[in-house]
Amino acid sequence: MMERTLVLVKPDGVQRGLVGEVIGRFERRGLRLMALKLLRIDRAVAERHYAEHRTKPFFDQVVAFVTSSPVVAMVWTAPGAVALVRTMMGPTNPQAAPPGTIRGDLGIDLGQNVIHGSDGANRAEEEIALFFGPDELVEWGRDHERWIHGPA
Ligand code: UDP
Ligand code: MG
Repeated sequence: MMERTLVLVKPDGVQRGLVGEVIGRFERRGLRLMALKLLRIDRAVAERHYAEHRTKPFFDQVVAFVTSSPVVAMVWTAPGAVALVRTMMGPTNPQAAPPGTIRGDLGIDLGQNVIHGSDGANRAEEEIALFFGPDELVEWGRDHERWIHGPA
């Protein structure tokens, strides 16, 4: 089933010049980009984005980090996009992330782990709505998608 998911290249990834690397991986895998922008996240959006972690000891740190410098927010779509992106990201802690994953190839630190990806289809829709208005999501088709998704 076609799904959409929210991806952030976090402040460390933008500062380190890894935006193109991250976009390139999703493009080559065959996901389709629907929306893209560079923004500085404000505190209110950061607190909503990480609301599930409100009571965790790292909450203040993750909010401070994600608001510290610009991020690149994107919406990607594909069959099973949520799980595809999570698998390509690798585990939360880059120290445990296998080579071939974004965090395993590009990160070392648990806090500064390059990328965010939604962790479920419902949460993805909520996160997309947090970062993008409906008019910012572009419906289109890559002409070679039948060569990626399999015959209809
Ligand atoms: N995080 C942290 N310390 C922790 C756990 C998480 O700094 O002990 C940060 C880390 O940047 C992570 C984010 O909080 O990406 C959100 O945590 P989550 O468990 O949702 O991981 P993710 O979904 O990003 O893999
Ligand atoms: Mg998460």
